[in-house]
Amino acid sequence: MEKHLYTSSSHSKTEGGNTVLHNVAEDIVRLKVAKIMEDSHMCTCPDCINDVMALTLNNVPPLYTVTEKGKLFQKLNTCETQYGTDLAKEVTKACLVVAKNPNHNEGNKEQA
Ligand SMILES: [Zn+2]
Repeated sequence: MEKHLYTSSSHSKTEGGNTVLHNVAEDIVRLKVAKIMEDSHMCTCPDCINDVMALTLNNVPPLYTVTEKGKLFQKLNTCETQYGTDLAKEVTKACLVVAKNPNHNEGNKEQA
């Protein structure tokens, strides 16, 4: 059984270092999305949140950063920059799209 550990360890090098690759845009969008969706008075179920996030993240440039493992992204004040403003705009646009065409599980939701 344990002999497999030796061979597998050489494959996952990218996960073995001290740093991780991270898309800060995703964090910022995640932080903004709930608030903006509430302000839009739209459905805020997990499916719709994912839809809004996906739409937004496909429309904005990613902001990849390399951080040390275990440390959260430090540059959260990026939120307050022009980039953060652009993201908020894209989130708002995505909300309009998702609110019009909700993609959540229709069988569960439409009865409510
Ligand atoms: Zn929904």
